[in-house]
Amino acid sequence: MNPLYINIIILIICMLMVFRFAKYIFEKTKKRRAIDKLASSGMKYIDKMDGHMFEVFLMALFQKLGYKSKVTQKSRDFGADIILEGKNRIVIQAKRYGFKNKVGLSAVQEIYAAQAYYKAQEAWVITNSQFTSGAWKLAKTCNVKLLSRQELQDLINRVKPDKSAKDVYENEEPSPRVCSSCNSALVVRKSSKTGDRFLGCSSYPSCHHTEKISES
Ligand SMILES: [Zn+2]
Repeated sequence: MNPLYINIIILIICMLMVFRFAKYIFEKTKKRRAIDKLASSGMKYIDKMDGHMFEVFLMALFQKLGYKSKVTQKSRDFGADIILEGKNRIVIQAKRYGFKNKVGLSAVQEIYAAQAYYKAQEAWVITNSQFTSGAWKLAKTCNVKLLSRQELQDLINRVKPDKSAKDVYENEEPSPRVCSSCNSALVVRKSSKTGDRFLGCSSYPSCHHTEKISES
């Protein structure tokens, strides 16, 4: 073979290797940035909360944005979990879901109805999870704003609420619940191994039932 060709082939191989390496570094940096953002938003603590803790955290978030917030009555008859009063009145449904559960149409329908009932200018559904395509479609038609996991994370990182997700998870009490096996009240306990909070039966040691706070 002509030595010129050999040189060209070697040059091409070298360029390919450099390109591959640059791409690898780029991907790695991108991944690390995503992990950093996730960590600073405290999403891992949000994933461990129950619905009530999530609402408390969202209220801290919106307080920093200049809104006065209140949680609606326990009955939630009219579809709003939180009402924000500021420049606008905003009604919010907060869906703290397990990672793989998507928020569907009914959340959009309910908050749309709540918007009319509370005479609010805006209606939002916020989740630590994702929305179904149906939910997105209906939300667009009804002018309901949806904040999925990614948008929530970005909002937290931008706003930096005074009460972090970690603070709320570690200090706020979850909603009262009863034991599914003996009907006694569940109480918050702390794992001596992991430091995680969980719910244990108040009849312990006669009942050994435990569950995750996020299980509600
Ligand atoms: Zn029990």
